Amino acid sequence: MIRILVLLASLLVAGCAVSQPASAPAPVPSAPASPERPRNVILMIADGFGPASATLGAAAKGAPLAFDSLLVGSVETSATDSRVTDSAAGATAYACGLKTYNGAIGMDADRQPCRTVLEAAEARGMATGLVATSRITHATPASFAAHVALRAEEAEIASQLAASDVDVLFGGGRTFFADLLGPMAEAAWHVATDRAGFDALDRLPAAALLADDHLAYEIDRDETAQPSLAEMTTRALDLLAASSDARANGFFLMIEGSRVDHAGHGNDPAAHLGDILAYDAAVAAALAWAAADGATLVVSTADHETGGMTLGRDGVYQWDPAPLLATTASHDVILSRAEAASDPAEVVRLALGLDVLPEGAADALRAAQATPAAFRLLVRDLQSVPAGVAWTTSGHTAVDVGLYAFGPGAALFHGRMGNDAVGQALFEVLGL
Ligand SMILES: [Mg+2]
Ligand SMILES: [Zn+2]
Repeated sequence: MIRILVLLASLLVAGCAVSQPASAPAPVPSAPASPERPRNVILMIADGFGPASATLGAAAKGAPLAFDSLLVGSVETSATDSRVTDSAAGATAYACGLKTYNGAIGMDADRQPCRTVLEAAEARGMATGLVATSRITHATPASFAAHVALRAEEAEIASQLAASDVDVLFGGGRTFFADLLGPMAEAAWHVATDRAGFDALDRLPAAALLADDHLAYEIDRDETAQPSLAEMTTRALDLLAASSDARANGFFLMIEGSRVDHAGHGNDPAAHLGDILAYDAAVAAALAWAAADGATLVVSTADHETGGMTLGRDGVYQWDPAPLLATTASHDVILSRAEAASDPAEVVRLALGLDVLPEGAADALRAAQATPAAFRLLVRDLQSVPAGVAWTTSGHTAVDVGLYAFGPGAALFHGRMGNDAVGQALFEVLGL
């Protein structure tokens, strides 16, 4: 709707220019209309979400994803030292508007700290937040509010986050905050370490550290123990919007569907799908909030693709999400159950929702019970082959990822953009 109005307005302007009387000076070509300025920006990142992830998600959902109609372009994701980025360089490109080396957290290619869009927003008096389903110290959220040379320095990242002016920190990674919770409480943080505490959060600054490590994959999540990404999104938006900083100056919020990536690394198609649909629900919540607000830009993208997942394999012209929808656990959970089970094949049969395993599979699973890597490959193929899903790597790939935008300022995001240009557009749209 907004884009249609902009289009109509530009057509009207063009019409006026054409109808000017002949005696008037020739019209000076006008500079491009300054983009509409959003009051708030919600940046959503589905880590490791490639083009096939979008196809898989919509097919399994049986309906368009919440952001399908908002596709405006694609993102070229390379780092300075490799055509295949990692999540640290990918997130820093969005956070600082520059390309950097793999492993960099808020650092430029010369290993100097770079100012992030979140920090610039804070300096202008905006409220800010980071929400993730990984450890909150993990590369993607860390790159917006911490500066370390290498992503593995997560204890240092935790210290920097605890000392930062970020108003909302929701995710996992409790282990890294064990010695910081006291100082954070003294510094006026409201800290939740479990679901009940999360539900009770009502003031900023608010930190919810809801697992020692990453939060659970959506397919494994116990909703009494951990909120969904959509629930964390809604809670973050409500807390931020009610703050005096946001009322005066707006807010910047980064929300990450972190574990889409982890499932890609594991070549775990059902866990990948579960986290794609959880991310979709979170985007739907953010879009509903933004549509009601009317002054909020929502940008959704990924930092890179993970797993090299394809739909269609082995010369067969078909694929089917049904085997993935029938699965009820991630490979991690299947493996942990199988290691302790008297019959690991039965664990797999039940988790994959199969009446019977294919011939030979049960014996192979039993033989691999004590070798996790081999066991995972067997489970992967028991799911992926009937689904027509294939994988090319346990790492990242360099294929472009989708770019989606909604709301005031969305026009700045279009075409094929470098990940650094997307970051620059975030600064520009906020006038930072
Ligand atoms: Mg990430
Ligand atoms: Zn990854």
